[in-house]
Amino acid sequence: MTRDIKLISTDFDGTLFAEFENPPIPVRLQQLLAQLQSRGAKWVVNTGRDMSGLMEALGRANASVQPDFIVLVEREIYVRDGAKFVPHASWNEKCTRLHQELFERIRPDVPRLADWITSRFKATVYQDPYSPLCLLAGNNGDADQIYEFLDQYARTVPGLTVVRNDVYARFSHEAFSKGTALAEIARLLGLRPEQVFAVGDHLNDLPMLKLEHARWLAAPANAIAQVKQAVAAQNGYIASMPHGNGVAEALEFYLDAHGRLHSTSQ
Ligand SMILES: [Mg+2]
Repeated sequence: MTRDIKLISTDFDGTLFAEFENPPIPVRLQQLLAQLQSRGAKWVVNTGRDMSGLMEALGRANASVQPDFIVLVEREIYVRDGAKFVPHASWNEKCTRLHQELFERIRPDVPRLADWITSRFKATVYQDPYSPLCLLAGNNGDADQIYEFLDQYARTVPGLTVVRNDVYARFSHEAFSKGTALAEIARLLGLRPEQVFAVGDHLNDLPMLKLEHARWLAAPANAIAQVKQAVAAQNGYIASMPHGNGVAEALEFYLDAHGRLHSTSQ
């Protein structure tokens, strides 16, 4: 039985990528990911960004490594084929169809929900191709209260969930998350959770930071308290360093110099 980590799932913003650092993805982490890829591991960037947002940031990071898979908007899967990313068609088509059906059902309620928010908070409410209601709150305190309100509403609609990342939130179908997308990629590769590593820093990462999807869990030092608690409660690793350096630290904690799992961390 293999004792290697074969699939590495990293959140992007605040985990892999730190906007104001130079380079935004530490060279040490790029080298480590390249080494693991050369040993047959696959790397997925599992993000809330859309395609153009991720490609723009990856380009700006000028990284020497490329992910093998990307998960966009916490729900769609793309597979790298040479220089381009091609959709995992059956997953993405089902994802689009179920979201369309769900959003049709809630569309009549959206103006009322938006009014509730904008009459109480200085917040931006808008729709985009991925959600009939998207939130950009003025601060995290406001986002907490608005999230609570939207979450209460979502509990009344089967399948509906609210995905939050910092001051941003959107509606989504609960069958599609960073966690279910990671499970689908593991299934495509024929991997078990014992071969999967996942790291993230915010609320939208919680669905993938679960032992049912990844045996090797981690959070960088900058992760929010709820994420650190969830990771620690499952015997995961809380890095002492933030962002990409914390990801490298966690991978090094779990792996020896040959890219194999330490016997003590089984
Ligand atoms: Mg993040």
